[in-house]
Amino acid sequence: MPSERWKISVGGIVQGVGFRPFVYRLAGERALAGFVANTPEGVAIEAQGQAAQLEDFLAALRGEAPPLAQIGEIVSAPIPLGHDTEFVLHHSTVSGPVSTLISPDVAVCEACLVEFFDPADRRFRYPFINCTNCGPRYTIVQRIPYDRPHTTMRDFAMCATCQREYDDPSNRRFHAQPNCCPDCGPQLSLVAAGQQVAERNEALSEAVRRLAAGEIVAVKGIGGFHLAVDAANSQAVQRLRQRKGREAKPLAVMVADLATARRVCRLEALEEQALASQERPIVLAAKKEGHGLAEEVATGYDQFGLMLPYAPLHYLLLQGSVRALVMTSGNRSEEPICIENDEAVQRLNGIADCFLLHDRPIHLPCDDSVVALQAGMIRQIRRSRGFAPKPIGLAETGGMVLGVGAELKNTVCLLKENQAFLSQHIGDLKNLEAYRVFQQSIGQLGAIFEINPPLVVHDLHPQYLSSRWAKEQAVSTLAVQHHHAHLAACLAENRQGGPAIGIILDGTGYGPDQTIWGGEVLLGDARGYQRFSALESLPLPGGDAAVQAPWRTALSYLFAAYGADLPDLPFMAAHECGVILTMVEKGVNSPLTSSCGRLFDAVAAMSGGRQTIQYEAQAAIELMQAAGGKLGKEGFPCEVYAENDMLKISVRSIIRAVGQAVQAGMAQGEISRRFHVGLVAVFTRVAEEARRREKINTVVLSGGVFQNRLLLEGMLASLDRAGFQVLLHEKLPCNDGCISLGQAVIGREALKKG
Ligand code: ZN
Ligand code: ZN
Ligand code: FE
Repeated sequence: MPSERWKISVGGIVQGVGFRPFVYRLAGERALAGFVANTPEGVAIEAQGQAAQLEDFLAALRGEAPPLAQIGEIVSAPIPLGHDTEFVLHHSTVSGPVSTLISPDVAVCEACLVEFFDPADRRFRYPFINCTNCGPRYTIVQRIPYDRPHTTMRDFAMCATCQREYDDPSNRRFHAQPNCCPDCGPQLSLVAAGQQVAERNEALSEAVRRLAAGEIVAVKGIGGFHLAVDAANSQAVQRLRQRKGREAKPLAVMVADLATARRVCRLEALEEQALASQERPIVLAAKKEGHGLAEEVATGYDQFGLMLPYAPLHYLLLQGSVRALVMTSGNRSEEPICIENDEAVQRLNGIADCFLLHDRPIHLPCDDSVVALQAGMIRQIRRSRGFAPKPIGLAETGGMVLGVGAELKNTVCLLKENQAFLSQHIGDLKNLEAYRVFQQSIGQLGAIFEINPPLVVHDLHPQYLSSRWAKEQAVSTLAVQHHHAHLAACLAENRQGGPAIGIILDGTGYGPDQTIWGGEVLLGDARGYQRFSALESLPLPGGDAAVQAPWRTALSYLFAAYGADLPDLPFMAAHECGVILTMVEKGVNSPLTSSCGRLFDAVAAMSGGRQTIQYEAQAAIELMQAAGGKLGKEGFPCEVYAENDMLKISVRSIIRAVGQAVQAGMAQGEISRRFHVGLVAVFTRVAEEARRREKINTVVLSGGVFQNRLLLEGMLASLDRAGFQVLLHEKLPCNDGCISLGQAVIGREALKKG
């Protein structure tokens, strides 16, 4: 059979992930001649052999690729035969700019774990074991190309044995940049009361002993510090809450293994898959009866946020008697996660009893990601470690743009060609530390992906720190309405151009009319939008103060619905209603809002739910839980009327229905179900009206309120029945974590127009 020679180019995440050694092995197995090399676009291969072998080789390139590789396009073409007789792995990169895609940080792989638990292995129980298929990446790389001197492993010179692995194409650690061992790599130490009290293995066993004794241990991990405490020890968890200033918000739990996870939560197959995935996110899953964890981990919440160990160190921490650890971000509430040893010892002083440290610096903080099973799919709540900076594929290519996100749950997004690079979750920019990470992340993403955007897109809100930062840059800027960005983000993630009917149910977003939007039906796409419909705008007494105190919103909405003739509802007895009513009546410090989040707050407070909250959306979450996991058929009626070329959805009619139900003594669970069903019905009706008028059949659901799984699933089912094509978020959160992408794609359309 005659030989052929093929030239094959492979794009995607194929550098720094063991792809060339993999190609080298495949070629060897099939006795092919030729070479493999990195190029600016990815990896170039020339392979020579019999056609059948080449076909097989090509199939294996995609089918058997190493776990961290994300294969993009593979192009192959026959070329004239060469004279080489063996297959060569070229080390040097073909000259020219390298568009290496940096991989996210990935959980320790199976092969490394086998060595890790093998007493005969030289890396037995070594907490920094890694290979080309696993370990830290995004959080340790400082610049490109992705080589050891450009990472925080720079100061660790490899020993002769590690160097041999690093240089050997047939080795699992060939060009694994963080490669190291107990002789040459990072080490653990334990600090308590300002003193180093133990090193290496002793540091670990001391930390394990202290955890079992109920102490709070600050643990340096991959993307930052965790505060760890025995999740079964009520007193210890309470102490952590007190010291951290986190009264009620549920805490994440790391369990030793899947078997333990199954004892704690009722897990669906998809949830187990997500738990065990190489990204190792926190998975929100239903608590199980008799879970054995302290109630204080997630009081009043029907789910736990679970994750499995991902750093080798975590496996060691969970090897003793403690099988479940609270592992919450190492910070004071609302600050970003700590990354540096000195900084952590300082900032977490008074919270942690001791610090389990190591000397591999973390370049960029990266929180744990959070996902949940909703509407049949694992969806993002917080996209961060393990996912960032993996690109989101776009339907079209275009100019470079930077979107700087919203104020809360901030992320930033850079567009390059047909890819969107989103940062890790950055958090609340009003926090000084978060603002610093925001700036650092923009620099980092720009540097590692070589993106230099001529346009920066920001939120319409002039006071957001991200907006102010954008305007300080020496490039063009564009302001984008918040809910328009939600709509565009969901379209882009689904690789759809639109136009679509965007049902955006959200907490807060600044409108061009200078009121606060948040219960919107927008028609449009990345090029523009029209505000087709919205919830009625009602006053929010005290602005942000009302967000913290749902009873204030409830009172204001009742006043709007009933006027001075207020019904006497039980919740009102506990409050100084007069002050708030005067504020609303006189319009003092009472901005108007169409927010859907505030409507949930009002209904929760009116129906005997939470009057003041301790963490975001607490009242709404508890109202949803009261529904008991299923919606009925009955819904509260809701009127819709035309006003100023818009359809207004009458919040007042909903409030009156809820008020009557409360007066009639209806249970909160039933009120919750009817409220949800009523919302689903009215938004479906409005979407049908939009379709009738504009002939658009695609609906986009976005906005933080859709983290409510009952509402999301109810809305989806109803729109399905009505024959709509419905687009949801999956790779990005429906909350403000998606805003930066929406801004960026809107900016790109603006660039096209010039
Ligand atoms: Zn590995
Ligand atoms: Zn070594
Ligand atoms: Fe939002």
